[in-house]
Amino acid sequence: MKPIPFNKPFIIGRELALIADAVAQGHLSGDGTYTKLCHRWFEEKLGCHKALLTHSCTGALEMAAILCDIQPGDEVILPSYTFVSTANAFVLRGAVPVFVDIRPDTLNIDEKLIEAAITAKTKVIVPVHYAGVPCEMERIMAIADQHNLLVVEDAAQALLSTYRGRALGSIGHFGCLSFHETKNIISGEGGALLVNDARFAARAEIIREKGTNRSQFFRGEVDKYTWVDIGSSYLPSELVSAFLYAQLEHADEIVAKRRSLCTGYATQLVGLQRAGCLRLPDFDEDSNGHMFYILLDSLTTRSELISYLKAKSILPVFHYVPLHSAPAGRQYGREGSTMRVTKELSECLLRLPLFYEMGEAEIARVCAAIGEFFAARSRSI
Ligand SMILES: *Cc1c(COP(=O)(O)O)cnc(C)c1O
Repeated sequence: MKPIPFNKPFIIGRELALIADAVAQGHLSGDGTYTKLCHRWFEEKLGCHKALLTHSCTGALEMAAILCDIQPGDEVILPSYTFVSTANAFVLRGAVPVFVDIRPDTLNIDEKLIEAAITAKTKVIVPVHYAGVPCEMERIMAIADQHNLLVVEDAAQALLSTYRGRALGSIGHFGCLSFHETKNIISGEGGALLVNDARFAARAEIIREKGTNRSQFFRGEVDKYTWVDIGSSYLPSELVSAFLYAQLEHADEIVAKRRSLCTGYATQLVGLQRAGCLRLPDFDEDSNGHMFYILLDSLTTRSELISYLKAKSILPVFHYVPLHSAPAGRQYGREGSTMRVTKELSECLLRLPLFYEMGEAEIARVCAAIGEFFAARSRSI
């Protein structure tokens, strides 16, 4: 049977034509026509003050850490159930990641546990919108306000999800997006830093351009450009931006398709949830269909189901090893709460195949296989 991969990169429109056009324009380094078109698209569509494309979400998180003026010993509050870059970007500046447990319903940072993890050294809170489902941003922003902290949204999975009508990534002081080929909208590798607080905009441009005021120079605001601050090279090539812009032209269509695939999974698996075999995610209407996962009763069931599906050429994957339990997490970070939910759910979560070109028939095949797995198990008990 034809394999169903977990993810499959795709082309939807003018990607190759726009790359050819970028080549024809003779500007292949950063900040040409297509990068600027992407910047404007994000600023208009998401309502952020300033969008800056980066080579990855990791790069955007690193820029945010510099802009937050992280000094050695500063503390950053984040979930343990996330990708390494959420922590690494701050550890690179000398910060101590303080891990807080997640909510059992959304798998996002449990906002009720944040205040107890705050100390005199805390500088930043990093909410991660897991699966594109929003964190409790109103509460998190209020806590940050009260304790004079900055908020960096890791919105790598959350492009075009909303929270009370506002785009994720546009609510904290900074938002970081990813266009890695596993995300909804892709450019191979790619990312963006959303600067939502105008106070940081000028410095963000400088840090992204190797610590120089080159952007101001090109706008004619200074008559020569020079080294003015720390920084690195965070901007993507025009080839990447051209590909990305072609995807952005179809952004709403991509999200609509993924949401309908998620609905297909949920409809066909709800019977197994009722039978107590698995738990389905609690997606609200405001999320972007980034991921469809199921929660099983144990690590053993998960391992058995993975083997069963693999034998049928279906490739599901589990997700993060919680950072607090990873070697570098233990070395650089500390636990700011118990990790009960993180530990329990990370062992039981299984992500099902989901990609733009997937069809209803493939969703049905995955669901049927999961149904057969549980039917065979109940017979053998
Ligand atoms: C994908 C992802 C990242 C990293 O994105 P890159 O563009 O690959 O650097 C960071 N955080 C989360 C939550 C992610 O899912």
